[in-house]
Amino acid sequence: MIIVMKPGASQLAVNHVVERIESMGLKSHVIVGTERTVVAAIGDERGKVKEELETAAGVDRVLPILAPYKMASRELRERTIVRTRDFECGDSKIGVIAGPCSVESEEQILAIARGVKAAGATALRGGAWKPRTSPYSFQGLKQEGLKMLAAARDATGLAIVTEVMAPEHVPIVAEYADVLQIGARNMQNYLLLQAVGETRKAVLLKRGPAATMEEFLLAAEYILDRGNQQVMLCERGIRTFEEHTRFTLPLATVPYLHEKTHLPIVVDPSHGTGKATLVSSMSRAAVAAGADALIVEVHPCPENAWSDGYQTITLEAFETLLAECRRVAEAIGRTI
Ligand code: PEP
Ligand code: MN
Repeated sequence: MIIVMKPGASQLAVNHVVERIESMGLKSHVIVGTERTVVAAIGDERGKVKEELETAAGVDRVLPILAPYKMASRELRERTIVRTRDFECGDSKIGVIAGPCSVESEEQILAIARGVKAAGATALRGGAWKPRTSPYSFQGLKQEGLKMLAAARDATGLAIVTEVMAPEHVPIVAEYADVLQIGARNMQNYLLLQAVGETRKAVLLKRGPAATMEEFLLAAEYILDRGNQQVMLCERGIRTFEEHTRFTLPLATVPYLHEKTHLPIVVDPSHGTGKATLVSSMSRAAVAAGADALIVEVHPCPENAWSDGYQTITLEAFETLLAECRRVAEAIGRTI
C-alpha cells in the first residue's frame, strides 16, 4: 500500500503513519518528494493499512501497489534521479559513463579518464574485479585497481563506477567507488543485492542475459528493500539465437521500463552488441529511446585492451559518438 500524505503534512503526521504501519508488523519506507511525502507499507496482505490509515491526520489517500515489485514500481513515484559528483541520471541531462573494460595500470586509467572527461563523460568505468567466462582469463587488478581508479577520480573529479562481485567485497569496493556495479552474471545473487542495499552508494544493476523484466525489477527490489534508493537499471543485451552480435540489445526495454518503474535506465551498447563498429549507432538509438545514461567501453588502443577489446572504441570514436548523441538528445529535449 502507498500512503500519500497531503501537501505540507507535518513530520508528526508522517511519524504517526510510520508507527501505525510498524505496529501492524509491516515494513515502512518514507519517500520525501518535492511536493509531498509518500509512505510505502510493505507486506500488507489483508488491506488493514487502508482501513486504519485512510482517516489519519495528514493522509490524503491510501492506494494499493499492484506490481509485485513494490518499491521499484512507478505506482510509488514518478521518477528517481541518481546523482553522485557530477554524474546525473534520471533527469533531463543524460549521464555518460565511459572507460575501459578493465583497469590495467595507473597510466592507462589516468589517460582514459582525462580523455573521456574532455569528451564530456561524467563518470569513469573500469573493472577491478572482472567476472570472466574462463578462469584462465585476466581476473582484474582487484584492490590495486581500486586505488588506480581513486587516483583517476582525484585527477579528474569523475565519479567512479566499478563492479563488486561478492558480498564480502562490498565494504572495500564501496570505500573507493561512487557507483557499485552489479554485473549481469550476478543480477540474481540476492545476498550481493542485499549487501549493496545496505550501503548508501549508487548502484548500477545490469540485466542478466536471460532475465525477464519482472525478474530484473524484483532484483532491484532487493536493493531498494534494504533502504538504498539510488538504483539504476542497465540493459546490456540478452542471449538469443542471433549470432551476428555477442548479445541482442533490446531497446524496447527502455520505454517499457519507464512505464513500469521510476528508476533511471542505462544502456550498455558495448556489451549489448559486442562489436565496436555498432556501438555508436546503438548509443544514438538508446538516447532516442529514452535512455537516462550510457555506459561505453573506451580505450586508447582497443586491440591491446586486456579484456573486451573487440567491443571497445577509441577516444576519437567516443568523441564523435557523444557529438552525435548530443544532437539526438537535443531533438528530444534533453542534454548530454
Ligand atoms: C563489464 O561491464 O565489463 C561487464 C562485465 O559487464 P556485464 O556484467 O554486463 O557482462
Ligand atoms: Mn567488459
